[in-house]
Amino acid sequence: MRDTLPLLDKIPFPALRRGTLDTLQINVGYRCNQSCFHCHVNAGPNRTEEMAADVAELALAFLKRRNIGTLDVTGGAPELNAHFRRLVTGARALGVKVMDRCNLTILEQPGQEDLAEFLAGNRVEVVASLPCYSLANVEAQRGKGVFDASIRGLRALNALGYGRDPALVLNLVYNPLGPSLPPSQAGLEASYKRELGEHYGIVFNKLFVLANMPIQRFGSTLVTKGEFDGYLGLLQDAHLDANLDGVMCRSLISVDYRGYVFDCDFNQMLDLPLPYGANRRAHLADLMDDDLAGNPIRVSGHCYGCTAGQGSSCGGALKEAAE
Ligand code: SF4
Ligand code: SF4
Repeated sequence: MRDTLPLLDKIPFPALRRGTLDTLQINVGYRCNQSCFHCHVNAGPNRTEEMAADVAELALAFLKRRNIGTLDVTGGAPELNAHFRRLVTGARALGVKVMDRCNLTILEQPGQEDLAEFLAGNRVEVVASLPCYSLANVEAQRGKGVFDASIRGLRALNALGYGRDPALVLNLVYNPLGPSLPPSQAGLEASYKRELGEHYGIVFNKLFVLANMPIQRFGSTLVTKGEFDGYLGLLQDAHLDANLDGVMCRSLISVDYRGYVFDCDFNQMLDLPLPYGANRRAHLADLMDDDLAGNPIRVSGHCYGCTAGQGSSCGGALKEAAE
């Protein structure tokens, strides 16, 4: 795979500083039951990186100590980590909102038969990737059989009250198939609701529309196809300064499976550590009493993926998130 960081680091991006920390995002490992083309984690069934029990307990201690409101659990398929359920129940016992970045097909994996009930029982917000409402487009990006399994997963969640009960939030995530800017979030959400409702009887709360990041598998493919400069130019031309305030790195930290801390999940994948002290990586254990407000954020050319057009964050378009 081609490394895009040397190309990205040549591109200047406006300086950013941290605001108030309200979300702990943890990546519990890179193992996944899928291997999607656009995956910015380069996740797959053969990845072996996994968060261990002591790091999971440290994350829970951090939530308590710093009075963090939201735990956002991602992967790979986060549910495959042996400590996933301990993290969920531990955080919920602290009154923390928990978000699970779920790929839907995991709900049918052996050993996960009770996963949907577990998520519902703990009032976990499910953020589920579904890059289109058409079978052909989903299978082009995520593999054969993924669309039908995703629809079955959504129906199982709906049957438990997800998308209907205000306490059971089900949000979907869209990203473009190729090197283009995503369409308007509001317009696409209306289309998703109509198509999934009419054809499959599925309901959900919101659609998060995200831009593809020019890193990992997607970035490497852009380089191979000679499309990297064109895509970066597209993102830069669409950059809006107004989006800088809302980028997610201002209010969250991203922790890897070993407990090391990054400004966001994308920086984690590029191995760009959060700037901290002289020449050393920050570990979550270092930050128990350290308020990072005002800390500089490690930016690079990929950051235009967050500020182009309507903007892009873990909660979807920035403009619409602010409404
Ligand atoms: S389901 Fe998600 S984590 Fe897994 S390979 Fe696809 S994009 Fe990556
Ligand atoms: S990629 Fe986005 S979230 Fe990450 S540091 Fe850049 S602007 Fe912030």
